[in-house]
Amino acid sequence: MAAKRDYYEVLGIQKGATQDEIKKAYRKLAVKYHPDRNPGNKEAEDKFKEATEAYEVLSDDQKRPIYDQYGFAGLDGMGGAGGAGGYSHAFHDFSDLFGGMGGGFGDIFDNIFGGGRSSSRRRSATEPMEGQSLRYDLDISFKDAVYGTKAEIKFTHNESCSDCKGSGAAKGGSRKTCPMCNGSGQVRRQAGFFAVQQTCPTCSGSGTVIDKPCSKCHGSGYEEKSKRMTLSIPAGVDDGKRIAIPHEGDAGKNGGPAGDLIVVLHVGQHSYFERSGQDLYCAIPVTMAQAALGETIFITTLDGKKIEFKLPAGTQNGKLLRIKNEGVPVLNSSKKGDLYIKIIVQVPTKISSKQRELLEEYLKLDNATTSPQPVPLSSLGN
Ligand SMILES: [Zn+2]
Ligand SMILES: [Zn+2]
Repeated sequence: MAAKRDYYEVLGIQKGATQDEIKKAYRKLAVKYHPDRNPGNKEAEDKFKEATEAYEVLSDDQKRPIYDQYGFAGLDGMGGAGGAGGYSHAFHDFSDLFGGMGGGFGDIFDNIFGGGRSSSRRRSATEPMEGQSLRYDLDISFKDAVYGTKAEIKFTHNESCSDCKGSGAAKGGSRKTCPMCNGSGQVRRQAGFFAVQQTCPTCSGSGTVIDKPCSKCHGSGYEEKSKRMTLSIPAGVDDGKRIAIPHEGDAGKNGGPAGDLIVVLHVGQHSYFERSGQDLYCAIPVTMAQAALGETIFITTLDGKKIEFKLPAGTQNGKLLRIKNEGVPVLNSSKKGDLYIKIIVQVPTKISSKQRELLEEYLKLDNATTSPQPVPLSSLGN
């Protein structure tokens, strides 16, 4: 591989250039060297690719700092500066970059870089295609996430049309060459000073159309069906966890498999338990005397079980005590996290005359100073 030019040099910008400057510099070069304006010019094509690669890295918040610090070596294996496959995702915002200049850029880029994106690659009408995966958002309670549950979900997906078995054609109907693109799947359109290629809108790029569409699915080959399923949620799942149910997404085409149904879990809050990873946290109030003398305390866990633990004598306010294995189960394992109890020492606000008498006597024995020295703020609550 020939030595590569520095990306900033390629775009003719300073190292600290803003995203706006990077975009502007790239737009200028892309317009100048665009292969559609320089047909058959290998040098222009190379310059165009070089500028595109530089833009792809410098416009990326994650890749730019790596390139700045480590150069090309830092980008190895990030799918950025290497093969042509790495270009495709930079162009999600192309309509933004070339706004007002007409669409169709995605197709041009696919042609240049060898069709990195399957979505706009020309497909034959009989090629097996995987169906779309679908997302289902499911709310579950804090407790159900910890202990597991069964949830009934109801969703709609596209199944193969039962009348035409997914072909989209009515009985006796057939596929014929698309009259709009003459079977190529692409149409050319003039946009400003570019001629851009676009996926044919009549046949969606397949190159063929159905002469007599199925009356049930109007030629789509799909029918929408709603479905109910009972889903087992394992113990220990956390917020944002995704559960894939294979082949419950939309049906595929031409014998291709159905997509998946992806269930995304949203875990609710609990009024007094909190969770961090596999550990549970709660706070327990105790009296001054309990904290000073120590006592066996009973607490109710998340699942309603009563457990006892020893509050040590001399426990300070804010002390975190750990009870092992009373936390959240580790997914697909018999291990569990721990339960942490934060001790809140409560000073009484209402006391009886007897309590007052005893406290006053205690105070006398306490040798408390009336002019204490300050201590660091960080020493509070431990
Ligand atoms: Zn049909
Ligand atoms: Zn067409």
